Amino acid sequence: MSCLFCRIVDGEIPARIVHETKTTLAFRDIQPKAPVHVLLIPRDHVPNAVDLTGDQLGDLFAAAKEVADAEGVAESGYRLLFNTGPDSGQEVFHAHLHLLGGRRL
Ligand code: IMP
Repeated sequence: MSCLFCRIVDGEIPARIVHETKTTLAFRDIQPKAPVHVLLIPRDHVPNAVDLTGDQLGDLFAAAKEVADAEGVAESGYRLLFNTGPDSGQEVFHAHLHLLGGRRL
C-alpha cells in the first residue's frame, strides 16, 4: 500500500496518535508549524477534502473539538484547515484536517 496515511492507519508507520475513534485518527504532524499541530484523518482512504462525505466531515470536526480540548487550545483558539490540490501545497493525498494552535498564528 503506497498511501502514507493509510500506512499510519494500519500501524505500518509509527505516529504520535493523540485521539482515535472508529472512523477517525488524529496524530502529531512530523514537522509542526505551531506548538500544537495535529492532523486528523478519516481511516478510509479519501484523496481530497472535497471527496469526504458529510458523515466523515462531521466525524473529523467532532474529533478536532476533542483534540483542541485535550491540547488546551480550545479557549485561546486554533486554526483548522484543509489543503486541497497541488497549488494549495497539499503533499499527502489522503484527506487531512490540520489543527494548529498554541501560539498567535
Ligand atoms: P499537506 O501539505 O496539507 O499535504 O500536509 C501534509 C502534512 O503531513 C505536512 O504538514 C507534513 O509535515 C505531514 N507529514 C508527512 N509525513 C508525516 C508522517 O509520517 N507523520 C506525521 N506527519 C507527516
